Amino acid sequence: MARLSQARLVPVNKTFEDRSPLELLHWAKDMFGDRVAAISAMQESGSVLCHMIARSKLNIPVLFVDTGVMYQETLDTRDRIAREYALNIVTLTPRETMQQQTDRLGVLYLSVDGQKQCCHMRKVEPLLQVRDRYDALLGSLRRSDGGKRGECPILAVDPEMNALRINPMAGVDDDQLQAYIREHRVITNPLHGQGFSTIGCNRCTTPVLPTEPKRAGRWRHLGPWSMYCGINPTDVDDATSQAIELPQDLVDRILGQKTDFVI
Ligand code: SF4
Repeated sequence: MARLSQARLVPVNKTFEDRSPLELLHWAKDMFGDRVAAISAMQESGSVLCHMIARSKLNIPVLFVDTGVMYQETLDTRDRIAREYALNIVTLTPRETMQQQTDRLGVLYLSVDGQKQCCHMRKVEPLLQVRDRYDALLGSLRRSDGGKRGECPILAVDPEMNALRINPMAGVDDDQLQAYIREHRVITNPLHGQGFSTIGCNRCTTPVLPTEPKRAGRWRHLGPWSMYCGINPTDVDDATSQAIELPQDLVDRILGQKTDFVI
């Protein structure tokens, strides 16, 4: 196995800035074969990612984390996308139902510390169930979403999953996203039409006013302290000094170089 740090990805990330999302999807499939999956929360960007995978016929599975307290519209969107795009959508679920968790620990999402614990149990831990199954995970993070995502790299290490995160849509801005949705009539979550700029659990997501930031509807009851759930490592840590471990040959191919020694 070889160590792949975020710092070593800098030159590759620079060259990837010129590639389109579809080119990056093909690179991911060529590079990782059946050891790459996508993650979608069935929001707009995730729907576009699903559409691109389907139209490219890349046969990449899509992981969907169902926390057990999702809006019905989100579950319906997942089912429609699976059916109409003929995608293999794999639903991952927490170990406990929300009721079992609440009986044991109380209503966690009403405090800042509790939210972190709840998101970890209901979002991060379900994803960890497939930790050794994939070497790379495609996501739909975009720099246009601002905040921590304003600097989101195309390739990022995810030490907790020991996988490479690939964000092929990092450079897609809001206008380009909406143009793609219109042109391809992408199936999108109907909640976007009801004022939801981002969509998560029904306990912690509200619509936003046109004048509010996009993520103002997430954990609104907690004030400005809880902006991300932690399922995307670049949201919570820049990870510049962090690393993952992958087979040497794979690391060489990702970096486009051959090395015989790595520190
Ligand atoms: S968004 Fe809220 S309900 Fe959902 S996992 Fe996080 S804290 Fe729990």
